[in-house]
Amino acid sequence: MNILILGGGGREHALAWAISQNPKCDRLFCAPGNAGIADVAECVRLDPEDGGAVCAFCAEMAIDFVVIGPEAPLAAGVSDELRAAGVLTFGPSAAAARVEASKAFTKELCEAAGAPTAAYARFTEAQTAKDYVTAQGAPIVIKADGLAAGKGVTVATDEPTALAAIDDMFGGAYGDAGAEVVIEEFMTGEEASLFVLTDGEATLALEGCQDHKRAFDGDAGPNTGGMGAYSPAPVLTDAVHDRAMAEIVEPCLAELCRRGTPYQGVLYAGLMIEDGAPRLVEFNARFGDPECQILMARLGAQALDALLAVAEGRLADARLNWAADHAVTVVLAAKGYPGSYAKGEIIGLPEVTDPLVQIFHAGTAEKDGCTLSNGGRVLNVTARGATLAEARDRAYGIVDRIDWPGGFHRRDIGWRAL
Ligand code: ATP
Repeated sequence: MNILILGGGGREHALAWAISQNPKCDRLFCAPGNAGIADVAECVRLDPEDGGAVCAFCAEMAIDFVVIGPEAPLAAGVSDELRAAGVLTFGPSAAAARVEASKAFTKELCEAAGAPTAAYARFTEAQTAKDYVTAQGAPIVIKADGLAAGKGVTVATDEPTALAAIDDMFGGAYGDAGAEVVIEEFMTGEEASLFVLTDGEATLALEGCQDHKRAFDGDAGPNTGGMGAYSPAPVLTDAVHDRAMAEIVEPCLAELCRRGTPYQGVLYAGLMIEDGAPRLVEFNARFGDPECQILMARLGAQALDALLAVAEGRLADARLNWAADHAVTVVLAAKGYPGSYAKGEIIGLPEVTDPLVQIFHAGTAEKDGCTLSNGGRVLNVTARGATLAEARDRAYGIVDRIDWPGGFHRRDIGWRAL
């Protein structure tokens, strides 16, 4: 079959790498792709958020299946346009993707479904939001309602920080995404990521992951899109997993069904786990990045069969074979990220012959045969091993051979589990 992946980050490189290995895949395209994806797929200049253009491309190239990587095309309704055009698609409708596109929507969904999450209040005006913060006190969490590329959340340890965040959001720092603000109780505990495939009826949970959101070692520095991840995550025990499915994921999916907007795709539940009890931090409507890299590394070619089972509504019969292995991914980012950073630096990549290691590209470009940095998060060195320590050592062995003085990475990925 001919397959199109929308997106061009590390997540999409990992998806393309896994899908390309499945014999069902004849021709693989990726829009827009990146320098690494170009090794396994044909990269096409196409705006992934332009549903009309994506549908036209699918008709022209006889695309049988579209996999939507990032959240923006989902929120823009590209999956709806594709389905309306009769194209088999992996990714929820815009109505179901509201679980990510609006934090207020998800809080209200949890309330309706009885799913445990932080107490909250929502505001459309700065002064009442500030009065609420003053009444509640810090620590407290201030969130722009809409999509803000992972930057619209302030975990405020003191009141002035919380008040400043409110001013920023209503001052337009996040555009329309900040027109409504959600203020949440600060939750303590350990975070983990649970990914659940669902075709609208059946669910199939993937093995757990944990990512490292802070920029620097020891979980210090600003929040980022993710500086590394590992799987499985010991904090997500079978008992916690079962509770998260029974108390959070299943009731919320059932509530979406009840409303006539069933969810079809992968649902990411960001969990806060304390004393064995999971609470929902957030839902995302797609695979996490960098968690997708380790999940795809562990699943390989069978990932395509699972994504097809979701899109074709036959997930109830689908099975995944998880090897008893571990995977680690280490993100290399441009110095300055998540703030401002340089682009266009030449990166010297080592030749990797070990089949247990992949370098998934995120923000890269190719010029005259050289790999150039072209974004904040640039590379994901992803390795598997019989143990977490083995996977980690294998990954850092390659990280240390990458010649890029303008980049930085964390040295402690997986520390909680090691
Ligand atoms: P991303 O898109 O990067 O996953 P986001 O912008 O959608 O993030 P959240 O995941 O809601 O934002 O929050 C980002 C981080 O802030 C969380 O991973 C968590 O560490 C912290 N956080 C969010 N809400 C709370 C809360 N109520 N209590 C404690 N920490 C929180």
